[in-house]
Amino acid sequence: MSPELPVFRYHPDPIASGSVRESAETCACCDRATGWIYTATFYTAEDVSGRFCPWCIADGSAAGRFAGEFMDSYGLAGVSEEILHEVTRRTPGFHAWQDPHWLVHCDDAAAFIGEVGYGELAAHPEALDQLRQDLRVGGRHDAALLEQFLTHLGEGATAMLFRCTVCGTHLAYTDAS
Ligand SMILES: [Zn+2]
Ligand SMILES: [Zn+2]
Repeated sequence: MSPELPVFRYHPDPIASGSVRESAETCACCDRATGWIYTATFYTAEDVSGRFCPWCIADGSAAGRFAGEFMDSYGLAGVSEEILHEVTRRTPGFHAWQDPHWLVHCDDAAAFIGEVGYGELAAHPEALDQLRQDLRVGGRHDAALLEQFLTHLGEGATAMLFRCTVCGTHLAYTDAS
């Protein structure tokens, strides 16, 4: 983790996840070249001439100035408005094939860890179990096919891994191209 970057409670290492990259680019909000630039989603109706530095994300200035959000509020039902706004307006989003969304645990938004395959997911059995249940509920009733799908995560379909900021349990959802 880079000690230089602002602290994001809900996205603790945006460099590892690929959402923030080292770059000489100038920030579209503060016009400074901080050495780091945000590369993932930003939803706004306004014209933005470039990308943002992590500091303009952290203090809310980018979202405020361009009336935009880094993340859709889908999935964030049940958290306070304060948490909702911290995730959608002051937290880096992430790259995904489908519309990215956030997961919630213990009435708080979870922290996004990154996109993972089966190997990393298997290191967190609770996340794998939760995903298995969600997929079953979602219609994958054939146990053998379901296990095949899970063990091939990382090849085409992947999993988005989160960690609960309250109890520390890992949770995930699947993303496919
Ligand atoms: Zn900036
Ligand atoms: Zn929890």
